[in-house]
Amino acid sequence: MEQRPIAGTQLSAMTSGLRGRTALVTGSTSGIGLGIARAFAGAGMNIVLNGFGKKEDIEATQHVLETSFSIRTAFSAADMSKPTDIAQMISETEASLGSVDVLVNNAGIQHVEPIESFPPEKWDAILAINLSAAFHTIRAVVPGMKARKWGRIINIASAHALVASPFKSAYVAAKHGVLGLTKTVALETAEHGITANAICPGYVLTPLVEKQIPETAQARMLTEDQVIRDVLLHAQPTHKFVTTEEIGALAVFLCSPGAASMTGAALPIEGGWTAQ
Ligand code: NAD
Repeated sequence: MEQRPIAGTQLSAMTSGLRGRTALVTGSTSGIGLGIARAFAGAGMNIVLNGFGKKEDIEATQHVLETSFSIRTAFSAADMSKPTDIAQMISETEASLGSVDVLVNNAGIQHVEPIESFPPEKWDAILAINLSAAFHTIRAVVPGMKARKWGRIINIASAHALVASPFKSAYVAAKHGVLGLTKTVALETAEHGITANAICPGYVLTPLVEKQIPETAQARMLTEDQVIRDVLLHAQPTHKFVTTEEIGALAVFLCSPGAASMTGAALPIEGGWTAQ
């Protein structure tokens, strides 16, 4: 007789061995990073939050995670455009919560404008936060992961790591770069119990996307409603935004024993966008 897996068994297999591990999620005061932090906390991991935001909101998030999931949290206000801040964030994490077992490079910004008027300072900021920060965090955590023979590196890339859209020159270049970095790190760490993968989300309705709706309306001479219907959701055959919970669940899976042989992968979670 066919044996059907029991949902609870699957869940415990997904999260087994994760309780007590420490995950550092950059840009986790909002949006996708916060969704991943919540999912990791639900799996029992201790969490280092990072990003910008009001002190009281961040403390409230820490309190909810700690009391709901019986875990420990810390917060770093490190600016991901500053390599010295990044080095300090890693050493403070190791001092407060111990080794960084799971690293999620998620912090990111966007700017939408035609290339001929694209401000060079926006190009520099997008490349620094969306790409170079991942280089700085990874190079700092890999020695410890190698020594412990276990580590998970998850880079939040984008569907824009796989395909381009007009008016996003810096973002598309940075996200394609993140994928190249992911593959290289995967090869360098493959024999050390470390995996490095890129999650490639489609549109998720976070502050980052809310901000680009008026910018895209201006660049394409459309109304904001037209941007949502004819640009953002038009790209995704599901015609639905991806949710932060769906991305959190994928990130938990990547940390689970079942994903031990997945490395160097670009994992689309974009409603079928790049299947077209
Ligand atoms: P968001 O604006 O909701 O969150 C961005 C987070 O990054 C915030 O916590 C913010 O404080 C932090 N941050 C920004 N600049 C920082 C800096 N210099 N130093 C430290 N933290 C900084 O955005 P989001 O949509 O959740 O995006 C998160 C990631 O997901 C980004 O890398 C983005 O490119 C990627 N992504 C988003 C979408 C989407 O549709 N929202 C799609 C694909 C990929």
